[in-house]
Amino acid sequence: MRILVLSDIHANLTALESVLDIAGQVDATWCLGDVVGYGPDPNECVRTLQSLPNLVCLLGNHDAAALGQIDLTAFNREARASAQWTQSVLDSNSKRFLSSLPEKQVVSGVTLVHGSPRNPVWEYMLDSMTAELNFRCMDTHLCFVGHTHLPVAFYYHANNHPRVAWQLLRENESPDLSVRAFLNPGSVGQPRDHDSRASFAIFDLEAQTWHNYRVAYNVSTVQARIIRSGLPSHHANRLSEGW
Ligand code: ZN
Repeated sequence: MRILVLSDIHANLTALESVLDIAGQVDATWCLGDVVGYGPDPNECVRTLQSLPNLVCLLGNHDAAALGQIDLTAFNREARASAQWTQSVLDSNSKRFLSSLPEKQVVSGVTLVHGSPRNPVWEYMLDSMTAELNFRCMDTHLCFVGHTHLPVAFYYHANNHPRVAWQLLRENESPDLSVRAFLNPGSVGQPRDHDSRASFAIFDLEAQTWHNYRVAYNVSTVQARIIRSGLPSHHANRLSEGW
């Protein structure tokens, strides 16, 4: 079973379409949240996701913000402006879809969350200590996370001296899945590892393999739509720098 693993699309339809083109035929799509927020195409991204077979999608903090479920003072000024804009344009289909998303789900023996197992919507898995604490809250061998917009793996080496190691997952890199791990496919719509190309992964359930991919897309058309929509220009500029 070939599974497309996506996260943090952030209403960037051009990046999402480029990813779907390169990914080709898949048996399922697992999306780790933040379908909307920052970008200009929230309803279009929701509809595109809905058209994919065997979709599993998790709730991200920006999805919750777009639904008015969280206090926007938790966001910085520009993120708040984009959340308010998204709230104002979300159609009824998108609201229904985002409202239906779970915070945490185990699918085919893999835990899926946006942030982390112990705080599924909000916690950033950015360092080994956070990962170590979360390995204690994780019942499965593998857990897929998003939220940081960084393609990265955290491994739990049990041995005599338990320790957590991490690895940035570069293009075409395959992490070691023989040990317990957190895996992040990076961000489709707003990468933050100084590589502007959309990031995603393909997970093969039977072979237990994971491959990271990057795909270039037409960033300037997305930037133009962001500006035209009246969204903060900061969210347009950062796309070309990949952060
Ligand atoms: Zn995000």
